[in-house]
Amino acid sequence: MIRFQCQQCRREIEVDEALAGQAAACPQCGAAVVGPVSTVATLAAAAPVSAETTRTSGWAIASFVCGLTGCLGVTAILAVIFGIIAIREIDRSQARLKGKGMAVAGIVLGALLLLASTAMTALSLYRWFSFEGR
Ligand SMILES: [Zn+2]
Repeated sequence: MIRFQCQQCRREIEVDEALAGQAAACPQCGAAVVGPVSTVATLAAAAPVSAETTRTSGWAIASFVCGLTGCLGVTAILAVIFGIIAIREIDRSQARLKGKGMAVAGIVLGALLLLASTAMTALSLYRWFSFEGR
C-alpha cells in the first residue's frame, strides 16, 4: 500500500501498489487524484543502469580463474593479461560491466604466482649450476 495526501482536502488516501501513478477519485471529496509512483518504480526509473543490463566482464572471470589455477605458470601470465584487459573494458563500459574486484584479484594472484615460480626457477637453476660446478 502507498499513502499519500489528497491535494484538495488533505485527507490521507491509501492506494494499492498496483494503482501507483494512476488516476483515482478521492473517497472524501471526489477530486481526481493521481497516486504517487511506487518507490520501487521510482528507483528503477532514477537509476540509469538496472541490474539486468549490468553483467560481469568475461575477461575478469577468465583472469580470476587463471589466477586460481596459476600454479601451472602459463595461466599466471594469462591471469595478469586478462585482468588488465578486464579493467580497461570495465572502465570503458560506463558501469555496464562489473567484476573489477575479480579482475584485480586475478592480477594479484597471477603476479604472486609469477614471482613465486620465478623464484623457484632461479633457485633450482642456482642449485643445478652449483652442483655442475663441482
Ligand atoms: Zn480529497
